[in-house]
Amino acid sequence: MKTETISRELMLIDGEWTEAVSKEFFQIESPAKRGSVIAEVPKANAADVDIAVNVANKAFKSWKRVPARERGKLLWKISDAIEEQFEDLARTIATETGNALYTQAKGEVKGAADVIRYFGGVAGELKGETMPVDNNLFAYTQREPYGVVGGIIPWNSPFQLAALKIAPAIAAGNTIVLKAAEDAPLAVLKLAKICSEYLPAGVVNILTGFGEECGLPLAKHPLVKKLTFTGSTQTGRIIMHEAADRIIPISLELGGKSPQIVYPDADSNKVIKNVISAMRFARQGQSCSAGSRLYLHKSIYDSFLGKLIGNLKLLKVGDPLDENNDIGCIINEKQFNKVCNYIEEGINHKDTELLLGGLPPKDGPLSEGYYLEPTVFASPHDDLRIAKEEIFGPVLIVIPWEDEKEVIEMANRSDYGLAAYIWTNDTTRAMRTANQLESGWVQINRGAGMLTGHSYGGFKQSGMGREYSLESMIDSFTQTKSIMVDFDE
Ligand code: ADP
Repeated sequence: MKTETISRELMLIDGEWTEAVSKEFFQIESPAKRGSVIAEVPKANAADVDIAVNVANKAFKSWKRVPARERGKLLWKISDAIEEQFEDLARTIATETGNALYTQAKGEVKGAADVIRYFGGVAGELKGETMPVDNNLFAYTQREPYGVVGGIIPWNSPFQLAALKIAPAIAAGNTIVLKAAEDAPLAVLKLAKICSEYLPAGVVNILTGFGEECGLPLAKHPLVKKLTFTGSTQTGRIIMHEAADRIIPISLELGGKSPQIVYPDADSNKVIKNVISAMRFARQGQSCSAGSRLYLHKSIYDSFLGKLIGNLKLLKVGDPLDENNDIGCIINEKQFNKVCNYIEEGINHKDTELLLGGLPPKDGPLSEGYYLEPTVFASPHDDLRIAKEEIFGPVLIVIPWEDEKEVIEMANRSDYGLAAYIWTNDTTRAMRTANQLESGWVQINRGAGMLTGHSYGGFKQSGMGREYSLESMIDSFTQTKSIMVDFDE
């Protein structure tokens, strides 16, 4: 591997920039150029976790006493600083994740600043309740933080997800130890730097390391009082077992295989653009809310599909840092091979037809990184692996339907239940369908991302607990204390 220009980054523990106890580092590879290393970060393990959690536990004692609105004001400063460093942060995200700067990374920075500002604003809304009892009894509740939150995040939108864990946790008076994903820790370390400039030492601690070596000890640590995880359903299950062992609360935002249902009246270019956005093609499909099963009504099947393919052909795949490109590359070799295996399976399946894309080019500039073209398969039914399993790549499967009851059954026939998309101008139909879909997030005629302030999370094996809203902050990051006062003389 070429290592001439690589920078060596450190982790944030107790307001200090630190190496791992083991002194070991690991390399972060560029997804856009195989074999090229962009940085080295500390390889944290259980020893580092133990130090960070103890520090966070100590910081909690004073942080929880800082008035909520004061905590909120500090979050606003962090949000302002993110906006000041907008360009650099976006470039860092694009470099390490392979997500295109123009279509994805810039939006991610804006989204993170927005989320942090939002939670800063609602920090003072941690209100309790009172209950009318009798004249001499006063009963009230207050919301209290848990203590140290252990956060674990993936690589697909690392900066946004770090913000989404840190902001509500600390706004509610907790402290946090967050493990960045091993593939994309660099922008998160920049967020750590900003946090360290405004927050007391130990309130936010960021570790870099691998899942079993660093994530697992964090999930197991006895001083961690709440876990929040975003990632695969498989890893979520492991972490949930750890939470069960210590009876601590856990929020999980996991995988998805989200349906999009297109009704006969939705054969328009506007819908097609939104369907492409809902499939998260511009993020190489690497999103848990990707609408990767497209149920297309038979009456518009050919016409819609023709336009969809035409629109997808216009998207430019290439260097994530080149703002002329819409789509970047897959995060790493392992994911790339996994997606290619699914594509190969689709190509070889007797019931499917490859309509666009397919296996990656063997030569030319795109073969230098983990690039894939948008790929579309058609199948008369959805009883095949590529229509059931989360691929986490730019692979869409299109299935025709005729009967509304049947398409809703097909859409719900999944262990996942994160997002769903309905395309029709018939509001009655749309709302009837929305009511029946087993998904935590249903969008009607909208394919964009989450709205800050609106609860987001999954049904079924897509997770538990909600994020992005005041309610989610209260539910996920505080516990209720009920206090009763008898003032009978
Ligand atoms: P992906 O396969 O997309 O990387 P994962 O769910 O494996 O998704 O990873 C998401 C996050 O979970 C990463 O930060 C990773 O290091 C962490 N992780 C992976 N395995 C474990 C584990 N056994 N315990 C704790 N954290 C883990």
